Amino acid sequence: MTTTQAEKAGAGVVSKRTGVRWIPVIGLEVHCQLDTRTKLFCGCEYRFGAPPNSLTCPRCTGQPGALPVLNQEALALAVRAALALGADVAPWSKFDRKNYFYCDLPKGYQISQYDRPFCTGGGITLPSGKRVRLTRIHLEEDAGKAIHDRGDETLVDLNRSSVPLIESVTEADMQTAEEAYDYLSALKEIL
Ligand SMILES: [Zn+2]
Repeated sequence: MTTTQAEKAGAGVVSKRTGVRWIPVIGLEVHCQLDTRTKLFCGCEYRFGAPPNSLTCPRCTGQPGALPVLNQEALALAVRAALALGADVAPWSKFDRKNYFYCDLPKGYQISQYDRPFCTGGGITLPSGKRVRLTRIHLEEDAGKAIHDRGDETLVDLNRSSVPLIESVTEADMQTAEEAYDYLSALKEIL
């Protein structure tokens, strides 16, 4: 639906004060965890619910001198997801450091992809026939988990640190909550 079509269909909300119709413009970034046995850049296993900090090593806790090695299975799953979404897999891709400080990220940066993601394009056609275009999908590691509800102190569990994720990013092609819901349902089904 174009904005004009959306207006004709009565989409959006009319401001009581100004009478202006506001049409939502929705794009979504969705993270999906890849179901690998080990993490994205080290050989640590990942199991949800394991005792805190029991599945860590010098690489996923960011110790000095520890170097990442890419998990081949994670890359294969990521490429499979890209192909299932009709996207183009890049012949050449790279990782980048996204620097930020937070207690669940001991390295001080997340390994992600910035200007050369492994995949671009693709999309999902909703049951209504509307096409939602994908801008890109990139591969990145998850951060650890900060736990704030056990008293006055924040606890940190690094088991999740460096678990493989794909982040899919759409164009701002959706204009209603129903379209966003349909998109997420279709994405979930495809994956
Ligand atoms: Zn590790």
